[in-house]
Amino acid sequence: MCLERKECLEYPVETRTHTALHVVKGAIVKVLGEQALWTASVYVSGNHGRITVTCNEKPSKEMIKMIEEKANEAIDKDLKIEVIKLPRSKAEEKYGRIIYDLFPVPEHVKELSIVIIHEDNGYWNINACNKEHLPSTKCIGQISIKKVRFRAKKKLLEVSFDIEP
Ligand SMILES: [Zn+2]
Repeated sequence: MCLERKECLEYPVETRTHTALHVVKGAIVKVLGEQALWTASVYVSGNHGRITVTCNEKPSKEMIKMIEEKANEAIDKDLKIEVIKLPRSKAEEKYGRIIYDLFPVPEHVKELSIVIIHEDNGYWNINACNKEHLPSTKCIGQISIKKVRFRAKKKLLEVSFDIEP
């Protein structure tokens, strides 16, 4: 799947920014490790996105730069994005707790859409999510991390970014 930029821009910008959240999350976990596994909240407005994850210590500038580089690598590689609808119990059995965020999906939800960004030997990111996504990562365009805020008391890290408009 390799679309022209013009075709990419036919996707709503929010779909591209939302998909970028999954890519940035994957990059965060690769750089910061297990401490950053759980997403506390996300926000999308136009080409601006923000993701808040659990984090024990303030990351260095170098680490933030590395997160940005890794996210852009995932975009350059045009990783495939797959969405699988599964009964909740099956999804939990197959993938485990990793599909969830910090706050639980309500009890009454019995079917989940599992969004998987594939990479060569495994997953870049896997998450239960019922929003719209791109079919692969390239159409996101370049990601720039604009601001990072570490909230020491809550042990949360907010990463704000823009995608190419
Ligand atoms: Zn999503």
